[in-house]
Amino acid sequence: MSERGVFIGKLIIPRDREFYEVRNPADTRQVIAKFPRLRRDDAREAIGKAKEAFSKWSKTLPVERARILYKVADIIESRADELARTLTLEEGKTIPDSMFEVVRTINLLRFYAGLITRGQGKVIPSQDKNTIIMTNREPLGVVSVITPWNFPLSLPAWKIIPAIATGNTVVWKPASITPTIAYELVKAFYDAGLPEGVLNLVTGSASEVGDELVTNKDVDALTFTGSLQTGKEINEKVGKMNRFIRVQLELGGKNATVLSRNGDVNLAVELTVRSAFGLTGQACTATSRFLVPEDMHDEVLSKLVERTKKIVVGNGLKNGVDMGPLASKEQYDKILSYIEIGKSEGAKLVYGGQPIRGSEEFDYGYFVMPTIFDGVTPDMRIAKEEIFGPVLAVMTYRTLDEAIDIVNSTEYGLIAGIVTRDISEAAKFAEGVKVGVVKVNKPTIGLEPWVPYGGVKGSGNDMYKEMGEEAIEFFTRIKAIYVGY
Ligand code: ADP
Repeated sequence: MSERGVFIGKLIIPRDREFYEVRNPADTRQVIAKFPRLRRDDAREAIGKAKEAFSKWSKTLPVERARILYKVADIIESRADELARTLTLEEGKTIPDSMFEVVRTINLLRFYAGLITRGQGKVIPSQDKNTIIMTNREPLGVVSVITPWNFPLSLPAWKIIPAIATGNTVVWKPASITPTIAYELVKAFYDAGLPEGVLNLVTGSASEVGDELVTNKDVDALTFTGSLQTGKEINEKVGKMNRFIRVQLELGGKNATVLSRNGDVNLAVELTVRSAFGLTGQACTATSRFLVPEDMHDEVLSKLVERTKKIVVGNGLKNGVDMGPLASKEQYDKILSYIEIGKSEGAKLVYGGQPIRGSEEFDYGYFVMPTIFDGVTPDMRIAKEEIFGPVLAVMTYRTLDEAIDIVNSTEYGLIAGIVTRDISEAAKFAEGVKVGVVKVNKPTIGLEPWVPYGGVKGSGNDMYKEMGEEAIEFFTRIKAIYVGY
């Protein structure tokens, strides 16, 4: 297996660094690639390259930047099948789910290419005569991008694309287990003619490479998605440095789907199963709590279990598979330990709860059955903590107000869903839940790139949204210009 490179200014293969293996989580005998474990100095050098590139890139015309973004979109489109396959091999999700990421990335590229040529400033009437006041948006400088493995292509894309589109330069550290698809994205940018140093890719440990991206004084902004714990650490580090840089933190979720008494039971079951077990539950937007009216509990639970039994678990490359493996040994151990926690807390395990073993197809991968716990109460850890795997907690409620209280009872506030035919109930729910995104009769997973996204409470620092037009706000600062004539 050949050794792959990183981008420090341009593509390099640092032969004098140690290389680590990236393995297929569906079959760990298979090595996908080898990437260098870079050191702090390498990250520093990449930041230096980004800083150097900024002076020119920030002065390019929006139309020139857009031309490159459109070209990247075309390149990715022409390689869509191959990229989806790479993503599945590396992360484990199914081919349709990988293709969804590829298509979203193409959409993001074209969306921001169009948006950036539209102009971002205002003209404001002055209180003085013969005066024009206008605002302009300027890029910030070097942006550090630190991303997780669960959406290894489209999530970095929704940070990197608006950053570059607005004239910033980027240093990106992907999660250690998904560098190959990261490499492919960066390569597409350079194949499209991106000037050297505008987008840098550094692989390596969080403690060296990640830390440098957070603490380096030449970094002007930081956008991070990952766990609440890491988000807190990063926030603390930046705070201690006492530098006023922009920090965007997108953290976890403990999202609920609520079935209302006026909702379609089959629809609620379908949406919940898709949002809880699709992507193997490894999405910030996954449903991990299903709230059901107390008097409908038995009917709903039996339908839920019946539907869950139909989920086909297997290698994501195979046709007809609904749920791939967990992405790593670490995830696998974590999910199994949460299943034990659920049992010991007194929740009732009604389906799954075990690894899948006993055949060639499963023995070398991190496969776990979709798992349902019933009788879960809001005080249990499996009702409060982000598990990030295919584990669903079924809870009951009596009134809509109580359901809203339960939805709001965790540290997180990312997404909440309701299934109802009653529009006033939907509106009351949307008003009462403390989250960034509300879904009515829709799965909690699935975001559209033109819509602002971001959570509240422990789900993010909520200063700026991601995606949509709103992403531009994070990556640019406003300058006001008064002109007398
Ligand atoms: P996960 O690994 O489950 O995606 P993490 O929050 O641990 O979630 O990691 C998300 C990303 O942040 C990864 O790229 C990881 O390497 C990086 N990271 C983790 N800890 C730190 C840290 N202290 N400083 C900078 N980056 C970090």
